[in-house]
Amino acid sequence: MKHYRLIEWGQPLQPHTEDTPVPRGSEVLLRLSHCGLCHTDLHVRDGYYELGGGQRLTFAERGFQLPLIPGHEPVGVVEAVGDEAVGVTAGSRYLVNPWIGCGECAMCALGQDNLCPASQPLGFGRWGGFGTHLLVRHPKYLVNIDGLSPPQAAPLACSGLTTYSAIRKLQPLAPDDWVAVIGCGGLGLMALAVLRGLGHRRVIACDIDDAKLAVARAQGAPATCNLQSDGVEELLRLAGGPLYGMLDLVGSAATVALAAPGLRKGGRLVVAGLMGGTAQLPIPLLALREISILGSAVGTTADLIELVAMVKRGQIALPAVESRPLAQIESSLADLAAGRIVGRVVLEIDPQSSTR
Ligand SMILES: [Zn+2]
Ligand SMILES: [Zn+2]
Repeated sequence: MKHYRLIEWGQPLQPHTEDTPVPRGSEVLLRLSHCGLCHTDLHVRDGYYELGGGQRLTFAERGFQLPLIPGHEPVGVVEAVGDEAVGVTAGSRYLVNPWIGCGECAMCALGQDNLCPASQPLGFGRWGGFGTHLLVRHPKYLVNIDGLSPPQAAPLACSGLTTYSAIRKLQPLAPDDWVAVIGCGGLGLMALAVLRGLGHRRVIACDIDDAKLAVARAQGAPATCNLQSDGVEELLRLAGGPLYGMLDLVGSAATVALAAPGLRKGGRLVVAGLMGGTAQLPIPLLALREISILGSAVGTTADLIELVAMVKRGQIALPAVESRPLAQIESSLADLAAGRIVGRVVLEIDPQSSTR
């Protein structure tokens, strides 16, 4: 197998070749055709999340070891299965839920691998999708995507699952409740598509980049707001007052500080972004206005299956993606870091396999 691996935090990924693993027990070996590129891949390469105040949460202190193969939105065809892997057949194409837990704790037993205290996500806890092959521990993490475009389906594993699970935390959502989607990168465009798929129309797409807002409008955002040039006042004007819900897909000190005061009584702020920082909030407002601030960490395989089913039914029109060869991984990471990517880039690993 060939892959791109990280051998030193903060350094470019290196091409590398080694023996293709043989699946044992419940394991499944996929030959990958695509893997989406996500902002988390940048955090993985850098080796940390910014916590604010000079503090960092490093991947090393979370127990993730080098070398590792990033990439956590993999799509591939089953090439071989272990003798205990049931329910999959060689040649079928799957999207992989990369948010895999230890398999032994109470959360994993409930199917909530994303909340496992010893989680082993593909792409940093286990080897990920920036390579020709991927070994998956159990078929239960595979989601059938028959009938879907493989490159368009790839981002469902992280971008799609993250936004779908975050939007679920806004429920119950009444038709006249306003929701602001903060951040119109890949996650934001996916959130707009999911909200529309759920029939929700009162959505305001927010960003600080007019080009990204233009893309959001082109993808059907009912209203947009540039939080830098127009400010939160424009957001409140568009919604006719404080909002019920905000999805913070940026997750910075600035976005949380901005969002929380813009919520109406009983409102909810769901934070799924990981940009970093420390927020200062007036605590009495939480009780006085019964505001909830909820974190959302990717999602479960059951969530992903629900989401894929909605896409298969035609309920969600997936955002367009830009395909690039896997060999362009470094320039693509640089483009992502510099904010030059609009929407989602999906790396093409084996174009031939995508047509089979
Ligand atoms: Zn991701
Ligand atoms: Zn676990």
